[in-house]
Amino acid sequence: MRQLSEKIAAVLPSATIAISDKAKKMQREGTDVISLSIGEPDFDTPRHIKDACIDALNRGETHYAPSNGIPELLNAVSEKITRENHFSCSSEQVIVTCGAKDAIYETMEAILNPGDETIILTPAWVSYEPCVQIAGGKVVKHAINPKTFQLDDSLLELVNAKTKMIVINSPSNPTGAVFDMKSMNLVADLCTDYDIYAMSDEIYEKMVYGKEHISLAAIGDMEQRTITINGFSKAYAMTGWRLGYAVAPKKIITEMSKVQQHTISQATTFAMWGGVAALKGDQQCVEDMREEFDQRRKYIISELNLMGYETAPADGAFYAFVKVTGDDMEVASRWLEKAHVAATPGSAFYAPGWIRLSYATSMERLKEAMGRIRRVG
Ligand code: PMP
Repeated sequence: MRQLSEKIAAVLPSATIAISDKAKKMQREGTDVISLSIGEPDFDTPRHIKDACIDALNRGETHYAPSNGIPELLNAVSEKITRENHFSCSSEQVIVTCGAKDAIYETMEAILNPGDETIILTPAWVSYEPCVQIAGGKVVKHAINPKTFQLDDSLLELVNAKTKMIVINSPSNPTGAVFDMKSMNLVADLCTDYDIYAMSDEIYEKMVYGKEHISLAAIGDMEQRTITINGFSKAYAMTGWRLGYAVAPKKIITEMSKVQQHTISQATTFAMWGGVAALKGDQQCVEDMREEFDQRRKYIISELNLMGYETAPADGAFYAFVKVTGDDMEVASRWLEKAHVAATPGSAFYAPGWIRLSYATSMERLKEAMGRIRRVG
């Protein structure tokens, strides 16, 4: 039989899978594995959001909707962006997608030509590189300073005539770092000086602890060349709803919309009504979850530091990023086999020698996990 697609064959399966498969197998066999490898809030979706979706279903909102999203949600996003992210955004500059991940993929398809270079800052979340590759682009990686987790002038060294886009993710998965104004200005200057687009993945914007979240599009005239990615999965504990969005200049949204029209058509109609309730409703639920994460964050970071581990500044998201001695895959295997704690090796994020621990798990389980790691070392 003839060979399958070379482009897709070149996309590597996630390095996290080996460990998580092993953890699942152990769980099936009856071992009490504590999973600190999860990338989703452990909270339930708030009641008023679920009710809005149920009402929509009962009203018969079960048919096709406009491809870019229902007008009510496009308006709610544009109001939210203008109010909270401090750059202007009309409803024509919004596209609602099946999760933020889909918005990221559509961005790459809309921006990149074959061979166009995209700068990815490492440690980086696992799906940026495959999305660039599937769109035919080429990834160029820039390692962030592992002491400060902020940017400096060395970023400029990678820029050449083929550089088309840079991806930033603040607060960051996996490091938990939040870029300060100096880092954000560096990115903005780079994009303006060299005519580069920026994709700013702000999905963790609500999970910041004592730091300010800065939107790239709010700096100077960056809104003209920035695709801002956001969604409902993290802020409103809605991972299974598959609802996200992108905000960008209208001419970029028009191109993303073509990808959407010919692939997924639209996000799920009744789920979008849940999205309206999330953005327009009381935001106390978001603050309650943030406060709970903050408690756990303080606990896990101080425990890890007491055990002698160096940790990245955990200013955002819900991950502790821990420096380990030796091979991170081996350490993660040891923690899984001996301590029955599942963690994600940094190699999955282009950061060998580090391990990511998610604190989106109850305090009780976190305490048990820290005790177990302390025992096996
Ligand atoms: N960006 C980052 C940095 C993420 O961690 C995730 C989820 N793991 C996503 C995007 C995708 O989120 P969604 O569920 O909205 O597709």
